[in-house]
Amino acid sequence: MADRCTQGECSKNEVKTPNSYRRNTHILFYGNCVMPALAGDLTVFLVTAMIFEIDPRIIGPDELRADPKLAEAADLTYETSQSGVRAMLPCALSYVPVSQVIPSATIAGLARRVSTPKSSLRDRVLAKQFAPGVLRGQVEYLFDVGNWSQYFKSEPGKVYGTMLMMLQLPFSQGSVHIPPKSAAGPPTMLTKPVIDPQYYGGEGGGVDFDIMTAGQKFAAKICSTAPLSNIIKSRVFPPQQGATADEEDFTDFVRNFTASDWHPVGSCGMGGSAGIAAGVVDDRLRVYGVGGLRVVDASIMPLQICAHVQATIYAIGEKGSAMILEDRRVGG
Ligand SMILES: Cc1cc2nc3c(=O)[nH]c(=O)nc-3n(C[C@H](O)[C@H](O)[C@H](O)COP(=O)(O)OP(=O)(O)OC[C@H]3O[C@@H](n4cnc5c(N)ncnc54)[C@H](O)[C@@H]3O)c2cc1C
Repeated sequence: MADRCTQGECSKNEVKTPNSYRRNTHILFYGNCVMPALAGDLTVFLVTAMIFEIDPRIIGPDELRADPKLAEAADLTYETSQSGVRAMLPCALSYVPVSQVIPSATIAGLARRVSTPKSSLRDRVLAKQFAPGVLRGQVEYLFDVGNWSQYFKSEPGKVYGTMLMMLQLPFSQGSVHIPPKSAAGPPTMLTKPVIDPQYYGGEGGGVDFDIMTAGQKFAAKICSTAPLSNIIKSRVFPPQQGATADEEDFTDFVRNFTASDWHPVGSCGMGGSAGIAAGVVDDRLRVYGVGGLRVVDASIMPLQICAHVQATIYAIGEKGSAMILEDRRVGG
């Protein structure tokens, strides 16, 4: 059974599950409707966007948006021959093992920082990505035509390309919570949650920061290597500071211009063998301590995967609905 919330932040219709004292999991009830667990342990991909001025003959999404005639011509070409810019995905991406981005001695140092006796179980599990010989695509590099940065303002008449760097297995861990009761009353179904991704927070966050900073050099190297370099005129954000990427320092760029890459997971993570001590749902997606309540979405993934998450979430949906039907048949 769920216990009534005792922290004074919740509405009268809100309860906290028994594990709430460690995990701070809240559940809101509205008549027959349940708004499940807005909880801690949120993990979001981190992303930076380097911007390059590229060959002005290349037409990308920014140019189509800015010029209705160009867009109309592109639409016509696509309708008549299924070709042209509308038929292209002007984007290249790769998942690169961290061992190819950062020297092995540096990686060993990173691993030590998150594998101490005081490190959390989660950090120690994540630290296994640094073991010698482990090849995972922890760092995603994606080059696309267009200016993807929310921080860099395009100049009219110039064509831009973006090199994104995304950290797939971050240690940074934030939270998403129902806001405290305010003067306007208790939270309702329409109340927006309070989201704090805590990028680069704590020792693990420091490790993320160092990987993101070192990884910018690799991003710059990709862009200065043919054939990609053949379409690049210059880097405009952050402006190039040295003759080669190795001479550059990307610390301020990463500190000031990291953003969310929109793949939140973990806020109702599956507890696994550690059960309620480590998670919100069991291996059949049932919320610990609450009868008749499951969570079937991205939030049950305790950790990120080295990929965009959508396909995995489809599998979670399929598997979750199959389990609900199975348990109904056996009266579970
Ligand atoms: C801009 C953007 C780009 C992305 N690009 C990619 C990508 O390229 N590849 C990829 O793999 N992933 C991508 N993602 C991530 C992916 O979309 C999400 O991880 C995924 O949709 C999460 O699935 P979900 O079922 O957990 O939640 P959602 O898809 O968010 O579904 C939640 C549903 O619950 C509904 N809902 C919310 N509140 C209530 C309520 N109170 N009552 C009833 N219903 C409610 C919402 O309307 C929504 O339909 C992107 C995300 C964003 C935001």
